[in-house]
Amino acid sequence: MQDKALEAYTIEEVTELVEENVDSVVLVDTTLGKYKAYRRHGVFNSFIDENGDYHDLIEKLWFHLNGTNEKITKDYNVFVSYYGEFKGKYSRRLKIQAEGFDQPSIIQMTVYPLKDTNKYLFLMDELDDDEYVQEFMTTNKVNTIQNAYLFSMYIDLARDTTSSLNITEVSDDTVNSDIKYSDWRMMIVNMFKPEDQEQFLIRSDPEFLKRNFPPGRTSSFDCMMLNLEGVFKWVKLIFSRAETNNEDDYRFVFMVQDIHDNSIELLSTLKNYEKLALTDPLTEILNHGGIKAEIYNAIDNHKRDGADVSVMMLDLDYFKNVNDTYGHAAGDATLKKFSDIIKGLLPNEKTYFGRWGGEEFVAVTYGKSETETLEKAEELRKAVESGQFPEIDRMTCSIGVTLVKNDDSFDTLFDRVDKALYLSKANGRNKVTLL
Ligand code: GH3
Ligand code: MG
Ligand code: MG
Repeated sequence: MQDKALEAYTIEEVTELVEENVDSVVLVDTTLGKYKAYRRHGVFNSFIDENGDYHDLIEKLWFHLNGTNEKITKDYNVFVSYYGEFKGKYSRRLKIQAEGFDQPSIIQMTVYPLKDTNKYLFLMDELDDDEYVQEFMTTNKVNTIQNAYLFSMYIDLARDTTSSLNITEVSDDTVNSDIKYSDWRMMIVNMFKPEDQEQFLIRSDPEFLKRNFPPGRTSSFDCMMLNLEGVFKWVKLIFSRAETNNEDDYRFVFMVQDIHDNSIELLSTLKNYEKLALTDPLTEILNHGGIKAEIYNAIDNHKRDGADVSVMMLDLDYFKNVNDTYGHAAGDATLKKFSDIIKGLLPNEKTYFGRWGGEEFVAVTYGKSETETLEKAEELRKAVESGQFPEIDRMTCSIGVTLVKNDDSFDTLFDRVDKALYLSKANGRNKVTLL
């Protein structure tokens, strides 16, 4: 068509111009869930078929990982249809990756719902101007920084409705669809880690929310949820009830916040703290609280399944002399050396070794008979006797041994092992006694 004055164009020619300049023209029948492409120019030639499934088209337009061919995890597919509902004219830019193209394409899409039908007209164009692309990228980046939340929606429990659904990573669009809240819960429950699903169902239960949230109250809990790539990430699920003066008004905002990196750090801090809270700093074995808990566990486990559990109490002989003669630092080094010798000889598994206090130590060992326990105690006593202690050279220890019995309480067990140790001392030290 040659250049001419504006007035010289006929409406047919203008229509023809549209046809020549718009890369893709697609008609959708939502009742049948089908589309037909009337024009598929450039990137659209490979991106869409002449005839196809409307669900597939929506999935291709939105449900892929930004700038790649990769599909987002299939759990998110429950939302595809909601992204394919248009109540009025709609326009936006999307980044798509067509098969066979090196670079993602930025497309401008406008959707026209056709009056009094269940049909939409899609007009789509590839934007090839660098500036457009630049602008698109920048806007996207800003959004990602601002949206530390991954998912949000508005809920009305009184009417069992949801609105303003927003999956931030899929699109910054807010989708207004008519998903029932009760349906929505069941749609997304599988996105949570199996062990978190029960917790999600309890906390998202309408009756639970009604009961526990006075107007204006916000509360949250942490769990793991699939991200778009199908990887479980730590998220915070936040429910917040709207302020209202009507007690039958149960409107809520629901949000999912990405807290993955912080949570990982917090968990490792917690683990460190747990270790710190149970460890004796000098010997790096269990401290009093840590080994005491293991004595309680030993009694419980024996009562539950009859497990053989032995408890040993070890006390250094004449340790006070070490401090008095060589000083407190040498005393500390002796305690450390002693603890290392014993730890090195105790089985790695099913044994707990801790410092009861001062120069007294306790070992709890599973799966050893009385005879085996006695043999082990004898081995420990000899190892200490022949051990090389810094500065002071020789050291001995006395040991009391007992096995957990059916009717034991902490006190009866402890009294018995303490008495066994006392007998080893009374009988000349550097001895093992079983009671
Ligand atoms: P016995 O053979 O009867 O067990 O005599 P003992 O001297 O070993 O026992 P006693 O209970 O009389 O003395 C224990 C000493 O251990 C007293 C205390 O100063 C010392 N002690 C306790 N905790 C520590 C510690 O953490 N470091 C050092 N260096 N000494 C400690
Ligand atoms: Mg002692
Ligand atoms: Mg003592």
